[in-house]
Amino acid sequence: MLQLHNPATGELLCEVETDTPDSVARAVDRARCAQPAWAALSLETRAARLKRFGELLARDTDALAEELATQTGKPVSQGRSEIAGVAERLDFFITHAPAALAPEMWREAAQSGETGEALRFEALGVVANISAWNYPFFVGVNVFIPALLTGNCVLYKPSELCPLTGRSIARLLHEAGVPEEVFIPLIGAGEVGAALLEQDIDAVCFTGSYATGRKVAQRAAERLISRVQLELGGKDPAYVCEDADPQRAAEALADGAFYNAGQSCCAVERIYLRAEIADAFMAHFLEAVRALRSGDPLDQATTLGPLARAPQRDLLEAQVKDALARGAQLQLGGARQPGPGYYFAPSVLTHCNAEMALMREESFGPLIGLQVVQDDDEALTLMNDTRYGLTAGVFTPDRARAEALLARCDAGSVYWNCCDRVSPRLPWSGRKHSGLGNTCGTSGIRTFLKPKAYHLRLP
Ligand code: NAD
Repeated sequence: MLQLHNPATGELLCEVETDTPDSVARAVDRARCAQPAWAALSLETRAARLKRFGELLARDTDALAEELATQTGKPVSQGRSEIAGVAERLDFFITHAPAALAPEMWREAAQSGETGEALRFEALGVVANISAWNYPFFVGVNVFIPALLTGNCVLYKPSELCPLTGRSIARLLHEAGVPEEVFIPLIGAGEVGAALLEQDIDAVCFTGSYATGRKVAQRAAERLISRVQLELGGKDPAYVCEDADPQRAAEALADGAFYNAGQSCCAVERIYLRAEIADAFMAHFLEAVRALRSGDPLDQATTLGPLARAPQRDLLEAQVKDALARGAQLQLGGARQPGPGYYFAPSVLTHCNAEMALMREESFGPLIGLQVVQDDDEALTLMNDTRYGLTAGVFTPDRARAEALLARCDAGSVYWNCCDRVSPRLPWSGRKHSGLGNTCGTSGIRTFLKPKAYHLRLP
C-alpha cells in the first residue's frame, strides 16, 4: 500500500494499492500480446483516439488540477495551465506523426537485377514509461502520446507522489478508445519501476533524478534494452547582461526560479549578474519574489504552494547554511515556514560563488543564488561549470551578442530573454548528467520507432 499525504497539511489523503513484481510481469505480457493489433490499426484511427483523449482532458481539467494539487501541492492555476498546454503537444505529435512514419525510398530499381533501397519505420513494441511527479501531464504526454501514436504499447509508472493522476490519465485514455492492454498504469514506488526493468520491454523512457536515472541506465545496459531515453535534473543558469532591461529580466527570472515552487527540471537555479545592473535588477527581483502568494494550492490566487516532499526542506536548509558559511548574504527567506504543511519560504541569496552547494547541486525548491560577474567570459565559464546541461539563458537586447553567448553554452536548450520553457516543436534533451536522447520535436516521435532497411532486387 502507498500512503499519500497532502503536502499542504501533512494529512493522510488515502492509501493506494500497489503493483507487485507478479502483476508487473502479467501487465507486460498483456501489453506484448496486444501490441501487434494496436500497431495494425491505421495511424488515423490511433490519432483520432488520442485527439479524443485531449478533449477529455479539457473536459475534466478542474477536477484533474485539484487532484494533482492535493497530491503534490501544485497550485490549481498552474495545474490547469499544465493540462491546457497538453493540447498544443497533442496537435504537434498528431500533425507530424505521418511524416515520421513515412517510408523513405533511397534508390529505385529500374530494371531486372538492380537493387532498390528503402527505409521503413516500425514501432519499438512495449515501452516502459517511468515518470516524475512535478509535471505528470507534460512529461507523461511527451512520451506516451508519440509512443501510442506510432503503434507501441505503454506501461506507465507514474511517480508514487501522484498515482491518482496516473490512474486518471489511464482512465481517460481508455475512455478515448485506447484499449486497456495498450496503456497500463503500474502503481508503486521505486521497486515497481525496478521490477518493470526486469521484464521483456523494448524501451525505457525515464523522467526523474540523476541518481535514479543512472540506476535505470545501468540496468538497461546490462539487459541490452535497445532504446533508453532519460530526462534528468538540472542546475540551470541565467546571465543578465549590463544592457538588459532590469525589470523585465527580474520578472522573467523570478517566475523561472519560483514557478511550481522551483520544482521544475528547467527552473532557473543560478543567476549571474553584471555588476553594472546588479542593484537595479535586485530591487525588481526581490519585489517580484515578495509578490508571490504562498498558500493553499486549492486556492486560485496561490502562486507558491508547498514542496511535494517533506525531506526536501532539509536539503534546502542545508544549502542555505552552507552558502551562508561560505560568505553568501540572505536577502529573503532561508528556512521552512512554520505549520504542518511542507512550505518553504521563497529564498534569495546574493554574494554566492561556485564553491557553494547552492550553486552546484540541484535545489529543486524555491531557492536561488545570485553572483555578480565582471564580463561575458566569466559568466560563460561559470554557467558551464556544472555536471548538468539542461538549459541556459541570456538576457540582453543585443541578439548578436546573445547568439554568440548561447552558442558557447553547453546545454540542450538555450534561451534569449526567456527561461523555463519547453516547446513541442523543439527537441527536449539534456546534456551530461541531465539526460540521454530526447522527447519532443520530430526526432522525439522517431524516439519510438526503429528503422528497417529494405534491399529489393528486381527479378
Ligand atoms: P525520482 O528519481 O525520485 O523518481 C522518478 C521515478 O523513478 C519515480 O516514478 C520513481 O518511483 C522511479 N524510481 C525510483 N527508483 C527506481 C528504480 N530503482 N528503478 C526504476 N524506477 C525507479 O525523481 P522525482 O523526484 O520524481 O523527480 C524529480 C527529478 O526529476 C528532478 O531531478 C527533476 O529535475 C527531474 N525532472 C527532469 C525533467 C526533464 O525533462 N529533464 C522533467 C521533470 C523532472
